[in-house]
Amino acid sequence: MALEIKSIKGTADVLPSDSYKWQFVERLFLDTARLYGFNEIRIPTFEDKRLFIRSVGDTTDVVQKEMYSFTDQGGRELALRPEGTAGVNRAVIESGLINGALPVKLAYNLSCFRAEKPQAGRMREFHQLGMELFGSASPSADAEIISFVDHFFGVLGIKNVSLEINSIGCPHCRKNYHAALKAYFEERKEHLCETCLGRLEKNPLRILDCKNPECHEIAKDAPVVLDYLCDDCRAHFEGLKKRLDTLNISYTVNPRIVRGLDYYVRTVFEFVSGDLGAQSTICGGGRYDGLLGSLGGADQPGIGYAMGVERLLMVMKAQGIEIPAPASCDLYIGSMGEEASVKALGLAASLREEGFSAECDIIGRSVKAQMKYADKIGARYSMILGDNELAENKAKIKNMATGETSEVALDDETLTRFFYDAGIDDLSESIKDTLGGFTIE
Ligand code: ATP
Ligand code: MG
Repeated sequence: MALEIKSIKGTADVLPSDSYKWQFVERLFLDTARLYGFNEIRIPTFEDKRLFIRSVGDTTDVVQKEMYSFTDQGGRELALRPEGTAGVNRAVIESGLINGALPVKLAYNLSCFRAEKPQAGRMREFHQLGMELFGSASPSADAEIISFVDHFFGVLGIKNVSLEINSIGCPHCRKNYHAALKAYFEERKEHLCETCLGRLEKNPLRILDCKNPECHEIAKDAPVVLDYLCDDCRAHFEGLKKRLDTLNISYTVNPRIVRGLDYYVRTVFEFVSGDLGAQSTICGGGRYDGLLGSLGGADQPGIGYAMGVERLLMVMKAQGIEIPAPASCDLYIGSMGEEASVKALGLAASLREEGFSAECDIIGRSVKAQMKYADKIGARYSMILGDNELAENKAKIKNMATGETSEVALDDETLTRFFYDAGIDDLSESIKDTLGGFTIE
């Protein structure tokens, strides 16, 4: 019978054949983040819907069309997070972090939800690695954030990613720009989509980000924000370019980037890959200086970005970057009969204690089936225990790759020694590394 209940369109399972790739990228991300002083924050999957309306903005596609919102049993209006910045901003206010030592530097790894049309590189549940930096208005913060992303791509071995930057000004200089945009679109009103007609009054900048082909075409010739920057915003943008030059990070200024979220001011940027097809942006970010204040927090500036893990892995695959697969089972212990099966379990347990991975038959299959399984899981070594082996307390251990066999005594110490001598990585070392100085009794 076919499975009746299927996964939801736009969601995906990550199976063991891929999950190690995710683990690799996620771990490397958080480790590299620590080099820059960013530590992980974890936030809830759903929030008060008003948080996103207020920060992402009520005229954005994300809020108007893509948000998974629902009313819970208590009548509260909630939404699954479409992105991470809003929740992290809320958390730094609520926790008081923003009133402590500045700058506050946070990194995250989270799932996001957007009701978009699923296609390659566009999911309804997707994953973002991102950072937020609070408490610095200086272009040095923008440069630090951007240089991290550049560094991280380098660590992963990703090539051919181009950085595009722009400044979309502050509320002060944007007034004139909005007026110019409004005048421009007003004249072409009859060609705009329904949503954009509403945006024309409330937030004409959003029309620049509309995905409707006709709106998109008209937007191509709209006035560009760079021509309207005030002196402070212009100086800030120049400051960023100077720092990127010093850091040897190449970029192009793309005056058409506005980003799809309302909280951005001044710097916006994207990292774009030629290996992604239509969904070419791996990473997008920018400055959001008024956001904390507007959510009721201290009036501190902020900047951040997020990159899509699905797209990151797609680029790595397209570029043939191999992610090291985890080592397979060190020893498969096959057995015949009740007594041997008990012995196998004991030996496996002692190997695991020492940090070597071991498996034995726990189904009660024939030896032939057991060996087939050992082969399938790619076990490095195998052995079979039967009455003879138990009687002599010795067994042949077979190197599955070479077919070579040697004899070992069936005691914990000899067996463990065998794996140390074979130069097999002892997993307990990496467990100890993870634990640091910590010991579990
Ligand atoms: P796009 O232009 O592709 O719609 P966006 O501007 O909506 O992207 P952001 O909100 O800035 O994207 O999110 C940052 C990153 O998250 C994107 O650059 C992309 O890598 C990833 N991302 C965004 N939406 C999706 C999605 N629906 N599926 C997969 N990844 C996504
Ligand atoms: Mg989008």
